Amino acid sequence: MTTQKLYYNDSYKLDFEENILKVEKWNDKFAVLFEKTYFYPTSGGQPCDKGFINNIPVVDVIEKEGNIYHILEKNLTENKAICKIDYNTRLENSQHHTGQHLLSQAFIKVKNYPTISMHIGKDYSTIEIVASSLNIEDINKVEDLANQIIYENRKINILYLSEDEINNYSLRKKPKKKSSNNDIRVIEIENFDLSPCGGTHLKSTSEIGIIKIISFEKYKGNYRVNFLCGKKALLDYRYKNFAIKNISNKFSASEYNIEQIINKFIDDFEKNKKELNLIKKDFYNLLSKNILNDCKIINNVKVIIKEEKNYDIKDISQNLVKNQDILSFLFLENNERYNFIFSCSDNLKINLNEIARKLFKDLSFKGGGKNNFIQGSINKVEKSFLEKIISDYLNKINLSI
Ligand SMILES: [Zn+2]
Repeated sequence: MTTQKLYYNDSYKLDFEENILKVEKWNDKFAVLFEKTYFYPTSGGQPCDKGFINNIPVVDVIEKEGNIYHILEKNLTENKAICKIDYNTRLENSQHHTGQHLLSQAFIKVKNYPTISMHIGKDYSTIEIVASSLNIEDINKVEDLANQIIYENRKINILYLSEDEINNYSLRKKPKKKSSNNDIRVIEIENFDLSPCGGTHLKSTSEIGIIKIISFEKYKGNYRVNFLCGKKALLDYRYKNFAIKNISNKFSASEYNIEQIINKFIDDFEKNKKELNLIKKDFYNLLSKNILNDCKIINNVKVIIKEEKNYDIKDISQNLVKNQDILSFLFLENNERYNFIFSCSDNLKINLNEIARKLFKDLSFKGGGKNNFIQGSINKVEKSFLEKIISDYLNKINLSI
């Protein structure tokens, strides 16, 4: 026995009652079987319906060997099921599925590009078309034609055709599956498209609302075309409309020339960034020279211990240690602590990691790095104290430079 698919003939019925045939354990969930159902299972690129059975959420609908399993989080004890299919999910899926038929035929009419697969996704839907090339003009033409068929409010019919009858029809693609009565189910968009399909569709094209292609990209020699229909397209337009309005307002520009304005802004920004980097380089060189003028020499090492309030201590350190024989401890206040960079020239054979651990062990030292460059933080102390412990240490050790 296989489950009778009532959604084949009526995809608008969302409330129904059924006798429960069986409830099976389904991993950590429960699968409910009916003799017939309006719940659509995941198949043919269309996601399943959502809804409730006896007020328990239906988390999945699965078709297996002709049976349709309604997956629930909780077990059912009743014999009768009161079923409610979620309207929004069904509407969105039907809008995208019907829209896909329209779009696929529009690609054939405009460019003779056939569709080889489709997917109705959570965020957008996709068709894959066999196409040698595709540009924005083609996309606009296809989109215009598909939407024209929506404006014309064409009827959408469900036909059941025998294998003999089917030869009299020009179908967009070859049929795969037969319906339960052994006929082939074909969806007809009047005078536009005929396609075998087992999904849920609308009664007329106007119910699709709108088809909007949102992007397209080359994919393994073919093209993928991403699109939105109906309610999802409206939500997308609503979001993008306000986003672009807000951006335009920030630039005091019209929405229709904001793209040029942003492009110019980015060009200017890149130019300024380059110029600023050059200025920064010169500035830090000069600053380092000034700092070096005030350094103390201990045991042949030029020692700099300096609090910095305005500029980047990493940039200054890197500039200082480009010179030879430099040991630099630069710090800045950060609440109750000092953040610091402790660095030295490459020619000094000093392990700053070791030194920092020894000298700052009573100052709750945190940090680390390489032998000649470490960054970290210590408790706030007098600058003279730092000078003393660093100088004492340098005086004691033998620096084999
Ligand atoms: Zn379909």
